Amino acid sequence: MFFCPRCGNMLFVEQGDRCNRLACNTCPYICDIVTKITDRQYTSLKAVDDVLGGAASMDNVDKTEVTCPKCAHTQAYFMQMQTRSADEPMTTFYKCVQCGHRWND
Ligand SMILES: [Zn+2]
Ligand SMILES: [Zn+2]
Repeated sequence: MFFCPRCGNMLFVEQGDRCNRLACNTCPYICDIVTKITDRQYTSLKAVDDVLGGAASMDNVDKTEVTCPKCAHTQAYFMQMQTRSADEPMTTFYKCVQCGHRWND
């Protein structure tokens, strides 16, 4: 239960432009609701983006025998990363040695 910091009336939840928000019935007070889950999802997606998009991030990692889905080359760089919660399996990222194609499983 949330109360308006301006007038003290009870706030209600409404659909905002980008997300749900708390709004006051009696004055113009509005407060966007940004949940912790959204923050965490953003952080992990950003981390994946750094790995997949980083210029030299995969050039010094190990190679493994795996078939590239793009050019069918059989060797790719790979690295494993925890992208979700700690009790879920690691995600493996690959980058084709030949064509540079990146994918993950
Ligand atoms: Zn108010
Ligand atoms: Zn390839």
